[in-house]
Amino acid sequence: MKKTVIFVMTTVCLFACSDKKSSIDSELKTPAINEFNYKVDVFADMEILRYRVPEIEKLTAKQKELLYCLNEAALQGRDILYDQNGKYNLCIRRTLEHIYTNFDGDKNSDNFKMLETYLKRVWVSNGIHHHYGNHKFVPEFSQDFFINEIKKLPEAAFEKIGLNSDKLISVIVPIIFDPAIFATRLNQASNVDRIITSASNYYENVNQKEVETFYGKMKDPGNETPVSYGLNSKLVKENGQIFEKTYRLGGLYSAAIEKTVYWLQKAAAVAENEHQKSVIEKLVDYYKTGDLQKFDEYSILWVADTLPHIDFINGFIETYGDPMGMKASWEANVNFKNTEATKRTEIISANAQWFEDNSPTDKQFKKEKVNGIAAKVINVSILAGDSYPTTPIGINLPNSNWIRAVHGSKSVTIENITEAYDQASHGNGFADEFAWSKTELDLMNSYKFITDNLHTDLHECLGHGSGKLLQGVDPDALQSYGAAIEEARADLFGLYFIADAKMVELGLLPNEEAYKAEYYSFFMNGLLTQQTRIEPGKDIEEAHMRNRQLIARYVFEKSAEDKAVEFKTRDGKTFVVINDYRKVRQYLGELLAQIQQIKSTGDLTAARNMIEKYAVKLDPVLHREVIERYAKLNITPYKGFVNPVYTPIFDKDNNFINLKIDYAENFAEQHLRYSRDYSSLPSFND
Ligand code: ZN
Repeated sequence: MKKTVIFVMTTVCLFACSDKKSSIDSELKTPAINEFNYKVDVFADMEILRYRVPEIEKLTAKQKELLYCLNEAALQGRDILYDQNGKYNLCIRRTLEHIYTNFDGDKNSDNFKMLETYLKRVWVSNGIHHHYGNHKFVPEFSQDFFINEIKKLPEAAFEKIGLNSDKLISVIVPIIFDPAIFATRLNQASNVDRIITSASNYYENVNQKEVETFYGKMKDPGNETPVSYGLNSKLVKENGQIFEKTYRLGGLYSAAIEKTVYWLQKAAAVAENEHQKSVIEKLVDYYKTGDLQKFDEYSILWVADTLPHIDFINGFIETYGDPMGMKASWEANVNFKNTEATKRTEIISANAQWFEDNSPTDKQFKKEKVNGIAAKVINVSILAGDSYPTTPIGINLPNSNWIRAVHGSKSVTIENITEAYDQASHGNGFADEFAWSKTELDLMNSYKFITDNLHTDLHECLGHGSGKLLQGVDPDALQSYGAAIEEARADLFGLYFIADAKMVELGLLPNEEAYKAEYYSFFMNGLLTQQTRIEPGKDIEEAHMRNRQLIARYVFEKSAEDKAVEFKTRDGKTFVVINDYRKVRQYLGELLAQIQQIKSTGDLTAARNMIEKYAVKLDPVLHREVIERYAKLNITPYKGFVNPVYTPIFDKDNNFINLKIDYAENFAEQHLRYSRDYSSLPSFND
């Protein structure tokens, strides 16, 4: 570890030494919630927050070293995701960064400010398409300004950008400015060729039919332990041949993978125990070979790795970005256990079989024996790849269905992130605008932080792990509808049980009223407020949003007669009113049973009908009303994060002794630093 070495002088001057030491100690201490400044930046539809890393100071020196090495391994993959999200993303990001840092004109000019905003949006989305809505956002600075600034760049810039000035202008100007080119990153419509119409970079020169044929041949329905076909590769056609280019050392993205592997090997050397060491070594082996069998072996080892305090995700994991739901984007995080809050998830997993047995799903779709659900509450120390700068608040892995069935899954709730969300939302006027009355406001003020975290625990720890596929059902049978159906299944499981008397009995909720806070906020969000994230005229694309509207709309329609949930208006504004919470729970149970059946039987037609009927379209009048009310509050609909800056401290013999954590870095500083220190891929990869 020679990169950013700081020597602590221990021999030169005793007085100075102890002085230095106490200042380091204070730099290691986690600031209190009320002393911490969560807010970093606001632009376009984003607010950037920072998060605390509580109790990092309590880690041992060896644990801190492990954390540091894993952090570095996480940051090295950043460029991979840009390239996966779109073939021109790295080239465009580098061009913008060079203009931004070389600019010597008026920084208060509209053009420069618009360029800054556009660049920040590219950083947020890891590319030129909206991180959530998937549509391409178009810049507000002028084309002439942009071309002029490119022409002014120093010659050295073009080397890193990968194209000379003229070529660069002719290639990227239309891609950036013409709304029709690469209009969406991810097209999930059922009536088009999803591959041809999606700008993501998982396929090249192949159409959907060819992709389906290629992977159809690979799959053997009789295989009970299939690898995740296509997970870590790009499918291309060259000279009439269709084949995979695998992400691995010596393959696609090799330069970034090499650095990731370097830091993983360092991490393996300071692992907390032998098992964790073998987990990391298996991951290295997989990165070296690209062999999906090894990825399964790694996942099985990783699931069983429950003892260490520190844990991580690093690799090609989630398939939300692939229109076929097969190919995984690169992501990483590093985390350690929040011991106190983990008691909550331990209670839930200890009772996992009870929940499975008592869920309202058909017996043939239930697991007879729920396997080891390892659930914990964590604090993250770094977010990276597809988890940065926007991050999930709960994660359940691995995704392979048969591994989950045989070996179980590991599930986390990220408490230092939910804390930041919660702290940043205090007093912003949102609930006052959209809640029906003081009753609902009081419920949410009293219980929402607890019930939100509990719902996430239930979603991750039980929901995703529940149920089973019938024998012979293809795990990818639901295609692009699979993700939303799976999220709905997990959300419904959580919603159904959070209203169960068992929650109070287990000490997870203080009383039998508390769950109403979760129900009310869920329906307010699913029927109204999540629409603020969608531009007028657009459909809902993102899987979690589709899931939430699916659930809310289904129950709403079921309530047409009995008005268990209804809309009421006051002063021309629409509100959600829940008149009968128990009835709502009953409908949620019915829907859970249906969704589980769709999942278990791989019923693509039913999945498509369910999603298209409830989850995609918005009522344009209501949509406009919600957007207008929301606009008056001046709240951005999306939140992202900056990571803390970590600096290792070495003694004079170059032994790691401590880790300094600094929260001060702003959003632009962070990205420019990452682009300088963690950017090993060329702009164009094949
Ligand atoms: Zn989920």
